[in-house]
Amino acid sequence: MSSKAQKKISEDELKQMIYTYSNDDETEQLENENRVLRETVSQLQTELIKYQQPALMLCEVADVTPDLKHATIKVPNGNQFFVNVAKSAATTIRAGNTVLCEQKNLTVIKKVPTMRKFDIERFVIMEKPTIKWSEVGGLKDQIREIREVLELPLQKPKLFEKMGIEPPKGVLLHGPPGTGKTILAKAVAASTNSTFIEIVGSELVQKFIGEGAKLVKEVFDLAREKAPSIIFIDEIDSLAAKRIEVGTSGEREVQRTFMQLLAELDGFTNLSNVKLIGATNRKDILDPAVLRPGRLDRHLHVPNPTGDGIREVLEIHTRKMKLAKSIDKDKISKELEGFSGAEIKSVCTEAGYFAIRESRLTLKTDDFINAVEKVQSSDAYKEQHQKSEMFG
Ligand code: ADP
Repeated sequence: MSSKAQKKISEDELKQMIYTYSNDDETEQLENENRVLRETVSQLQTELIKYQQPALMLCEVADVTPDLKHATIKVPNGNQFFVNVAKSAATTIRAGNTVLCEQKNLTVIKKVPTMRKFDIERFVIMEKPTIKWSEVGGLKDQIREIREVLELPLQKPKLFEKMGIEPPKGVLLHGPPGTGKTILAKAVAASTNSTFIEIVGSELVQKFIGEGAKLVKEVFDLAREKAPSIIFIDEIDSLAAKRIEVGTSGEREVQRTFMQLLAELDGFTNLSNVKLIGATNRKDILDPAVLRPGRLDRHLHVPNPTGDGIREVLEIHTRKMKLAKSIDKDKISKELEGFSGAEIKSVCTEAGYFAIRESRLTLKTDDFINAVEKVQSSDAYKEQHQKSEMFG
């Protein structure tokens, strides 16, 4: 075989190889394109089916059955229906949630994630308090009652279920400022290992104009998320006062916030692990709607301490102090007649300063007597006691 013939064959072979190679390449490329097109068509078909389906309806969950298979939902016009819950949604939905439901049979498809306009946790005080019952002085009856009606149901809901007793959803603590309403609420949270969420009524209506109702809803959502929880609304009278007429837009706004509070209270069950504690020193101006059965129907009066109560509060706030052996606690207690728990605490702090001024670490009776006078002459004390005379 000549070298020329050899070269020609190899050229043909080469062409054939190139042809075959490029042909293979093209086939593969075409196959790839085909696959991509088929996938696109299938995706578009799925999308199309999705778009052809009727829109899902936004509904509120009023209640869920214990087996999580059914729920009572409220449709936008307010009507309620007992419906099925899709398996995929069963574990996530709870009373109070907003959910998406099929239009035809209202099956609950999924929970709508809470869309938070702002981070609610930045606007409330949220903590796990550690205060003990022994740190609350002179309120034996109130402590006993609050433990029975809030602590026990939170700790042993099954017991109440079995006995068919419906514990209250919350409690109203009323009495002058500084008498221990907040620490009582914190002590229940601590003893039940609950999250303590505090909002102040006046702040809610003054600082968050236009957002009050939404904020109330978010506070309850947060409480459910962090359950067991105690929601503490201080100065609840600011948003739950009786209104003779709702004229200005500001009043309408407070009214909306108040209605939301009632709706939230009605939305959870007596055995829920979220409880509400309201505090006020103006029970007289509260709208009866909030005090009705099924709402804040337990009312506990939290007064200034008297007699042994004063002594107890004094003991609590001097526990960590070094006291002279000769200290006359009876005499000091007598001087503290009419003082609130917070004022007794101030007296103890002031007494400490009197001792420090004389470079002493041990406190004497006179330090307390001087401190009583000092606190009594303070503007805060005078203002407070003037108010108490007015409102009782
Ligand atoms: P209120 O909520 O009724 O206005 P707080 O519970 O906030 O009052 O009380 C303020 C502070 O005063 C508490 O942190 C606590 O140190 C003290 N204090 C008030 N009442 C009592 C009480 N009964 N026993 C012990 N300390 C008290």
